[in-house]
Amino acid sequence: MNEYDSDKMVDVMHGAEGYTQTDSVDEADLILFNTCSVREKAQEKVFSDLGRVKHLKAKGVQIGVGGCVASQEGAAIIARAPYVDVVFGPQTLHRLPELLNARKAKNKPQVDITFPEIEKFDHLPPARVDGACAFVSIMEGCSKYCSYCVVPYTRGEEVSRPFDDVMAEITHLTKQGVIEVNLLGQNVNGYRGQLVKGDATSEIVDFAYLLDRIGEMDAMKRIRYTTSHPNEFGQRLIDCYARNPKLVNHLHLPVQHGSDRILMAMKRGYTSLQFKSTIRKLRAIRPDISISSDFIVGFPGETDADFEKMMALIHEIGFDNSFSFIFSPRPGTPAANLADDTPHAVKLKRLQHLQATIEANAQKIAQRKLGTVQRVLVERAADKLAGQLLGRSECNRVVSFAGHPRLIGQLVDVTITDAKAYSLKGEIVIQ
Ligand code: SAM
Ligand code: SF4
Repeated sequence: MNEYDSDKMVDVMHGAEGYTQTDSVDEADLILFNTCSVREKAQEKVFSDLGRVKHLKAKGVQIGVGGCVASQEGAAIIARAPYVDVVFGPQTLHRLPELLNARKAKNKPQVDITFPEIEKFDHLPPARVDGACAFVSIMEGCSKYCSYCVVPYTRGEEVSRPFDDVMAEITHLTKQGVIEVNLLGQNVNGYRGQLVKGDATSEIVDFAYLLDRIGEMDAMKRIRYTTSHPNEFGQRLIDCYARNPKLVNHLHLPVQHGSDRILMAMKRGYTSLQFKSTIRKLRAIRPDISISSDFIVGFPGETDADFEKMMALIHEIGFDNSFSFIFSPRPGTPAANLADDTPHAVKLKRLQHLQATIEANAQKIAQRKLGTVQRVLVERAADKLAGQLLGRSECNRVVSFAGHPRLIGQLVDVTITDAKAYSLKGEIVIQ
């Protein structure tokens, strides 16, 4: 989501003001930080990063802070780092040019961290595409209010983009050579989009409907999405996997924990059994679908027994990959006030055990790919190995193989000859 927002900031500044992107801080006239506040470390890093560029103000460089830390801290960022020129939130990044102009005109730092609903999408220039894969945001914000999470406070409540807007953006992308779309949102399966934009009487359509319509587009060959929520993973969505072969054989479905007691304290709204039942139904349709997930270790009050339940779930499902972190108390969230007496060292040990288990599992899954033919979307030439191309399999592993650069941007079949946990090597199948 943040990568997508960063690209949008580049698009906005490129379109409105003719800025171009540079990787060199010394060349920059404007430095923008896109920030994350999901965990504490990411938040603190912003201020140390700001300190590192502060000296560039002397030569007239402008500095902006966007994203969720900006949304959470607002004017407090200017108070702590008065050399910052503009502070903007995830929902106001399209106003960046106006904010920078106002900064100059009023000679005063500008802050805009409001949530003007879906206005953002109406004011973004058409995306500039680099490659055959693209992200498309279909909804913004989150209304789930899990007890540990800051997102509903920093990105606002869930708002879905109108269906015809999403389809128009995807059509535009296919005309630029995009053949794989990754639909983005905090809970994409909570999508409830108006069929016709601006028509209050028009029908509201759900995520399954959107997937079906994208599946019907000849030019779009692959569909991914990030992230969905177990609660809204109903039969309508599961059935899409039977009729829509463009939906990749990989699902990232965050479970967070395996102990019902902790899931309830997290306010996730499902039990471990309900999660398993969803996966069982999906695997009845796609037996070899790869499942990855998010986990939080060391939630306040997590006992050894709770952690064992989490590990039991991990063994049962056979997760293929994880984004797993130690619980970080976020100011303003209910879980931040819960008593927490588990020593950090214990949490760290649990996290390492969880990650090692999932990696060992990924290794086993990768081994099973040996000798199989995987459909790979070719992304680029390998930097260090002449003649080698890199792409991504449906199960979300990087695949390297020898091939001509003209294949970049296309789907090819590759026979797997070597397998590490998250990367595969192979030989292209000559047709
Ligand atoms: N909406 C998605 C969901 O419900 O699963 C995930 C979005 S959330 C921004 C990304 C991940 O950050 C979560 O799945 C969770 O594992 C992690 N996360 C959120 N708040 C956290 C916290 N306070 N401490 C540690 N990890 C956290
Ligand atoms: Fe955060 Fe995801 Fe829960 Fe929303 S559903 S509050 S984004 S963890």
